[in-house]
Amino acid sequence: MRTNDVGGGALRRPRVPAAGTGDDRPRAPLPSRVEDLPPPPDGLAEALGAVVAEPAQRAPIILHARFLLAWNAAINLTAITDPVALARLHVADSLAAVDLVAAGPHADLLDIGSGGGFPGLPLALALPATRVVLVEATAKKARFLAALVGALGLADRIAVRPERAEALAAPGGPRVDVVTARAVGALADLVELALPLLRPGGRLVAWKRGDIATELSAAARAAAALGGAPPVVVPAGRPGPSGHVLVIVERRGDPPPGYPRDPALRRHRPW
Ligand code: SAH
Repeated sequence: MRTNDVGGGALRRPRVPAAGTGDDRPRAPLPSRVEDLPPPPDGLAEALGAVVAEPAQRAPIILHARFLLAWNAAINLTAITDPVALARLHVADSLAAVDLVAAGPHADLLDIGSGGGFPGLPLALALPATRVVLVEATAKKARFLAALVGALGLADRIAVRPERAEALAAPGGPRVDVVTARAVGALADLVELALPLLRPGGRLVAWKRGDIATELSAAARAAAALGGAPPVVVPAGRPGPSGHVLVIVERRGDPPPGYPRDPALRRHRPW
């Protein structure tokens, strides 16, 4: 007798793959419904509550973390699984840009390379009037994001695009007020990708850490060539140990045709 039918019942168990199953063996489907998720680890709600100021945002943020941990067993979404570290290094780090984003035009936001959903998902929850596009080139990560957005009931406001941002930046693609990117590529590449995706007056917000002087000069050259303002570095606005600063590049004019270039050409002719 089968006990894991979609109809459910008292015997339904969380459908997560058993540890150590090889790729050649059939895997159980990953959970796409809240009731199929394993219970949250101890301390998760408290850790997230400490970094999410708005009580109404806590339940969806906790759900995000539970999805992340459940799917992380099968697809590599994050190396950070400790609840306190996850709350600070992923959630608080993502939310560091809320005030800055809210201070400018923010009717819509596109997150390049969302991976496990950072920073796009916490920002979407903190900015409930903003339409959000999560762009993720790796198909299985995009499937994770789509399952999460569906379970949150936010599919009408948060879209998941399983493709490269280059495809969306081409003529005829979406144009938004804010482009975000954390842990995705060099700053100059992000400028080249983001400026064509922005409306004039819109801004790229990139999370960067460490010594970024060289990256910043290349990004400044890219911005100048593509109609962007010089990059501005903002220390992350909220407490957080991630060490990230936010780099802002505003779109002022129009990028010339032909940008963003093909990734191979970008590698061959860096800024
Ligand atoms: N932003 C997340 C994930 C960072 S890992 C975080 O901070 O935790 C980088 C992710 O970007 C990967 O999942 C990769 O598949 C995706 N990515 C890299 N280049 C991309 C591109 N050009 N378009 C869309 N996704 C991209």
